[in-house]
Amino acid sequence: MNALAAIDRPVEGGTDIGRLRGFVTAFADLLAATRDERAILESGRALLARLIARDDWLPEIFTRPHPDRYQQYLLHCDSRERFSVVSFVWGPGQSTPVHDHAVWGLVGVLRGAEKVERFRRQPSGGLVATGEDILHERQVDAVSPRIGDIHRVTNALSDRPSISIHVYGANIGAVERATYAPDGTPKTFISGYANSVIPNLWDRSRSA
Ligand code: FE
Repeated sequence: MNALAAIDRPVEGGTDIGRLRGFVTAFADLLAATRDERAILESGRALLARLIARDDWLPEIFTRPHPDRYQQYLLHCDSRERFSVVSFVWGPGQSTPVHDHAVWGLVGVLRGAEKVERFRRQPSGGLVATGEDILHERQVDAVSPRIGDIHRVTNALSDRPSISIHVYGANIGAVERATYAPDGTPKTFISGYANSVIPNLWDRSRSA
């Protein structure tokens, strides 16, 4: 079965991690075919939209909110660290700090809704707000230093968690990047991940 067909394969009961395997294989194929950011974001957006078109594949342990802070669960990192796939889980009222990414990224809402506030840094170093959106289930957003890289993401729901699936052009948990104070002062951070185990994408016996 080719990778794209695996993304779309219907599930017969339980979660089907083969859907995520199909996605990461298709994304590796995309990055082998092009290193052009525009092309990656355009085709990658379509792949991510297919992945999140159904909410039946993400193992429950990567959907758990934490009472105090949003969670960032690594689902897959490419062996050459060309890309990583992450499940972000926000409890009610939780939000990220204002932060950048330093690499391209795609954000697709799997469950719930998220408020995205965008900012741009002025030559003086101050931050200016450039807009705000609500992302609903199955919508995909993009970031990069080229198209706008600074934002704050908040769970738009007050009564339940929201979950989005992110793809970045690096092992994002290891990338040195910045959070920003309201006056624009940057502070370096490396996010890491909340989990110590990742999904097993490679046991094909269930589908054999
Ligand atoms: Fe972000």
